[in-house]
Amino acid sequence: MNTSVSVSLRDVHLAFGANRVLRGVDLDVPRGATACVIGPSGSGKSTLLRTINRLIEPDRGDVLLDGRSVLGDDPDRLRQRVGMVFQQFNLFPHMSVLRNVTLALRRIRKLPEDEAVAVARHELDRVGLAAKADARPAQLSGGQQQRVAIARALALQPQVMLFDEATSALDPELVKGVLSLMAELSAGGMTMVVVTHEMGFAREVADTVAFMDRGVVLEAGAPAAVFEAAEHPRLRQFLSQVL
Ligand code: ADP
Ligand code: MG
Repeated sequence: MNTSVSVSLRDVHLAFGANRVLRGVDLDVPRGATACVIGPSGSGKSTLLRTINRLIEPDRGDVLLDGRSVLGDDPDRLRQRVGMVFQQFNLFPHMSVLRNVTLALRRIRKLPEDEAVAVARHELDRVGLAAKADARPAQLSGGQQQRVAIARALALQPQVMLFDEATSALDPELVKGVLSLMAELSAGGMTMVVVTHEMGFAREVADTVAFMDRGVVLEAGAPAAVFEAAEHPRLRQFLSQVL
């Protein structure tokens, strides 16, 4: 079992053409902590997350795991250490649930078939879906599909997990199961960076809540400080709209 690592962003800048999407992002997530990133649409939350596993390269600044810059690392190796879960589960529709989980184990971790299957079954069991191993994704609810996507990420034994609005595409009655799985992971000591609109989750599970606005983390702190004693008018305005 891998141990978690800390995540730090230092003055991260990124522009798409003339659109300066990240304008000096700083964020610190200690080992085993959970940071929830909140903020309006278009403020750069997804882009921030993508710089951590280098789906996007920052123009300037640094991204550190346990204090070491990842910007010189091999991106494939980095993505084994940093698991990511998306809003649209991104499962392969033509493969069984089991195969969706074993694929990366075989291709990336080069495990032989029987070992990959054993790891995958263990992870599916952990997310409560051992019985669905042979189903196709389309036979599962959205919530179950998202739990498969989480199992797939966990199978690679990541040291950090990134979640980008993991429950935003789910029917309301399916949200809770995914959030409780995420809360369990957080309680188990996984370092997590979670972009979410679920303010209840942020309040209960996060160690740090970071409010993104127009490409910067405008305010960050413990949930109580952010939700009950916000300093910035823009954060207060945002909270008045979402709470
Ligand atoms: P959020 O997740 O907070 O809604 P994003 O990080 O997705 O915000 O997007 C921030 C800004 O960056 C938006 O203006 C968006 O249009 C732009 N953007 C995001 N990804 C790309 C991309 N691959 N190419 C060009 N512009 C992008
Ligand atoms: Mg986004």
